Amino acid sequence: MANPEILSDGVWAALERSMTSRTTSRNVSRRKFLRFCSAMTAALALPLSYTTQVVEALEQTRRPALVWLEFQDCAGNSEAALRASHPGFAEIVLDLLSWNYHETVMAPSGKAAEKSLADTLKDEKGKYIAIVEGSIPMANNGIYCTIGGRTALDLAKEVCSNAYATIAIGTCATFGGLPAAEGGITGAVGVGDAIPGLRLLNLSGCPANGANLAATIVHWLTFKELPATDSLKRPLFAHGDRIHDLCPRRPHYDAGQFVRAWGDEGHRLGWCLYQMGCKGPNANYNCPQVQFNDATGWPIGVGHGCVGCASPKFWDTMTPFYRALPSVPGFGAESTADAFGTGAVAVVAGLTAAHAVGSIIRNQGAKSNGQPKAKKTIEPNQTPARPTEE
Ligand code: SF4
Repeated sequence: MANPEILSDGVWAALERSMTSRTTSRNVSRRKFLRFCSAMTAALALPLSYTTQVVEALEQTRRPALVWLEFQDCAGNSEAALRASHPGFAEIVLDLLSWNYHETVMAPSGKAAEKSLADTLKDEKGKYIAIVEGSIPMANNGIYCTIGGRTALDLAKEVCSNAYATIAIGTCATFGGLPAAEGGITGAVGVGDAIPGLRLLNLSGCPANGANLAATIVHWLTFKELPATDSLKRPLFAHGDRIHDLCPRRPHYDAGQFVRAWGDEGHRLGWCLYQMGCKGPNANYNCPQVQFNDATGWPIGVGHGCVGCASPKFWDTMTPFYRALPSVPGFGAESTADAFGTGAVAVVAGLTAAHAVGSIIRNQGAKSNGQPKAKKTIEPNQTPARPTEE
């Protein structure tokens, strides 16, 4: 995400001038609201000129209703969304919507909570957004997850079928996640598999980034439709690019400079984590741009490889997490997210070794041209060390 802090005062002044005839009813300052709108525009990969349109749409929204269901999960997506203080999810997005039902954080309980849900389904039919967190168990008639005596499947069918649209948030809700991993006994599936035919957006990730949820809601409020998606129903603004292509460590990959052991010189220097099992070459996500924790960090940024958490079945297909990609059965460094997401994996494992050869050749060429030589290179076809495999 482009940092709104970098916008010049002139841009802010122009935005503020364009809004002088209106006042915000939000409990946030005008400047903070504008920064939020600018950050959302950037997250959606829209030109900055769209910021005014976003501002106007959010100013005029009539607080549409939202119902949040939580099934087989760890509540990590609720945590991620509510703690996404940058760009002010809790302050602004919570104020834009009427959160009528959220099993984990809502104040009412028992029959009062059930009444809130029933009232929303009746009064806001076809207009509210349903968000589903967690997988849905299908085995044994869904008895592994019940709420108020109803199975998760029964609840989701009623709530999602009557919504304007459903957002499945987190890898459990999108693709089954950990409960669907090998050895699971609940028959866990994502929302799309449990209830085919829904108007559905998959906000995958473990957890999904709260900034992407905010951007999705802002897109809906601004353009009255959900964002464009890939073949896995994931929004393109968040999953359109490979992490490997956005990664700040990519120059080290290209130069053949790899971390070979946790804490070694390359690790301290911020070199590429490919040899330590990074799955960034097979993962499409905007983590490098939006980041986490007030946009201060993300896994690769703090020295840990990507585990491909937004991909279907990543607990089974991206493991062992600390083994380099060519050693992970069925994956090649250059196959696309869509390809492995649909099971049609293009196995091109040799490409990475070839790439490493190319790096070596380039480095040798650089040396002969009098340019600095890369400090270290990976040996082609070398079996990666597994120093910290769990
Ligand atoms: Fe970044 Fe991982 Fe690609 Fe290295 S392998 S450049 S750490 S995404």
